[in-house]
Amino acid sequence: MVCCCDRAPPKFPNTYLTSLNRNSTTAFDPLVGLPQDTYWAQFDEVSKYNVSLNYFEKLWLAWYTYMQNDVLATGILSFAMHEIVYFGRSLPWIVIDCLPWMRKYKIQHSKIPTAKEQWSCALLVLLSHFTVELPQIWLFHPMAQYFGLSTAVPFPSPLTMAFQIAVFFVMEDAWHYWTHRAMHASSFLYKNVHKIHHQYSAPFGLAAEYASPIEVMILGIGTVGSPIVWCAFTGELHILTMYIWIVLRLFQAIDAHSGYEFPWSLHHFLPIWAGADHHDTHHEKFVGNYASSFRWWDYCLDTESSAEANERRRAFKALKASSKKAQ
Ligand SMILES: [Zn+2]
Ligand SMILES: [Zn+2]
Repeated sequence: MVCCCDRAPPKFPNTYLTSLNRNSTTAFDPLVGLPQDTYWAQFDEVSKYNVSLNYFEKLWLAWYTYMQNDVLATGILSFAMHEIVYFGRSLPWIVIDCLPWMRKYKIQHSKIPTAKEQWSCALLVLLSHFTVELPQIWLFHPMAQYFGLSTAVPFPSPLTMAFQIAVFFVMEDAWHYWTHRAMHASSFLYKNVHKIHHQYSAPFGLAAEYASPIEVMILGIGTVGSPIVWCAFTGELHILTMYIWIVLRLFQAIDAHSGYEFPWSLHHFLPIWAGADHHDTHHEKFVGNYASSFRWWDYCLDTESSAEANERRRAFKALKASSKKAQ
């Protein structure tokens, strides 16, 4: 494992001695070479001394060694990743909204967001990203370091990452269910916090993070806090796993707000998965379907909002009435 504070003893190659003699004031790190002026020069330097690492691990190590400041390196990477993924993932849904032949898949057929709606939504989300999320992202690295998240290479195995991400999905879903349900149960919280998110009764991808800063913080605790809690208890988590988790969570949130339901949507193959069908109904009816990723909380606690759930409730009531009569 190679990280900023934990490095193996040096094995100085000849090239190193030559370089060092040429510029004796520059600090040499035995595992990553000399600091370079550009990222790609640093990548070449890292590649020279770390032949056993794969391409992505070399990219990662070169980034952290080139930046020479872990807080800045993680901050820039996190913020850029969030913006690219958020707007990048929303873009296909904006295009789909412009295609009339896709309307047959639109859940609320007649409610197509206008360009003005999409623009004003994007601007508010962008404003919130710069004013509310940026400072939080900046604080993330010191917090991650405190709880022992790793930035070292080589990366953990894909199986380890997949297992941890599955756990985070379950943890975040539980947090989301209860906090979201509380925001609907309390009229104070609904009016002062959650109402902004319900401005669009027929959601669209960009509206996933259209919410009050307080709501962004409350729900963000589930997304960022789940891995942190995991790390606090197990002491085992890589920041890359955290990044992949956040990317998947963004995909989940944006797709759930897309407003489109396809025959190939995930919940047809994985019935516990919530998907757009589940969350669109929440925006339309303002009640029920409080969970983010899975259907089990709403199903078990009878807060599901769907034609089948209503049918189930009717059947249950009828059964109860007939058993009362029989007594
Ligand atoms: Zn809601
Ligand atoms: Zn929503």
